[in-house]
Amino acid sequence: MMRQKNGLSRRNALKFALGTAAAGALVTAARAQDGQAAPAGQAAPAPAPAAPAATAPANAPVTPGWRRFRLGEAEVTVLLDGVRPGDGPFPTFGEDQSAEAVGALMEANLLPTSSFVNFFQPVVIRTGNETVLVDTGFGAGGREGGLGMLRQRLEDAGIAADRVTMVVLTHLHGDHIGGLMEGDAPAFPNAHMIVGRQEYEFWTSDAARSGPSAGNAEAVSAKVTPMEGRMTLAEDGDEVAPGLFAREAFGHTPGHFAYELRSGGRRLYLMGDVFSQFVVSFQEPDWHVRFDMDKEKAAATRRRYAKLLAEEKVPFLGYHLPFPALGYVQADGEAFRFVPETYALLIDPPATGGQ
Ligand SMILES: [Zn+2]
Repeated sequence: MMRQKNGLSRRNALKFALGTAAAGALVTAARAQDGQAAPAGQAAPAPAPAAPAATAPANAPVTPGWRRFRLGEAEVTVLLDGVRPGDGPFPTFGEDQSAEAVGALMEANLLPTSSFVNFFQPVVIRTGNETVLVDTGFGAGGREGGLGMLRQRLEDAGIAADRVTMVVLTHLHGDHIGGLMEGDAPAFPNAHMIVGRQEYEFWTSDAARSGPSAGNAEAVSAKVTPMEGRMTLAEDGDEVAPGLFAREAFGHTPGHFAYELRSGGRRLYLMGDVFSQFVVSFQEPDWHVRFDMDKEKAAATRRRYAKLLAEEKVPFLGYHLPFPALGYVQADGEAFRFVPETYALLIDPPATGGQ
């Protein structure tokens, strides 16, 4: 895929501004793809918030852009903040492997060898009297590239932003916190915030502010810190909302949490960025992922949860998996496979996975 000058500089700008878990290795989205990048130095036309899908590839699964299902007494809605085609999965995934090895794995799974598509998917859970948004996408900073569509998707799905009572964050990378603010104002003005204690302490530490993660630490101080007054720092095991439990999943970032939802005898895991590519993360869970800050710990966490999900046959959501990012894990020898959800969740009551 060709990289325009403009695409590259914009990519770096995004990487700096968002510190995203995937920005660095990916060619930017649709605009770079269709070869219509603006000449260097010329400002791009202002994005039209009402129609951000216009820049996405015509065949991208952006309509309707949300998927809803019930889980016991809870209602779960997956919202597609956007899709981003680019180079990869190597070296973002399989950084410690060769391009050929990663390409061969893709080929064996009937996928392109050197280009892939990344997905970004916040989730809304209605549980008890709470409307809980888990992660927030890119926000306004991503709209030029067809991302940052969460607000539009919420509206499409009939969820008013001011009715969101809680915002829960898996971790504080830019593609998860970008949607917290809309301009200078909180995007979810009535929401209380939940952040893992270790995660918040890390990103507000001097170490994070001065190291290679300084760009992301800056994003945290712009997007998350303004909410400090209505933020609770969660610990592993805390029930942060009715039936929603924080689960330690460190490695991708120092304080990354997964969340387990329990309702009416059913269970669902929200895995955040523990599994970020539906082939590599399962079939080669030990391969290094560029944006895992502690690669060995992230791999161990990946194996631990893959084993748990496979053994307990519990469905899960992965923030970056193909829309609607919902499925199961099967053991396959020493590794695993991702099995997309088809109709099992339509069947009530559940045969397995109860609790
Ligand atoms: Zn991410």
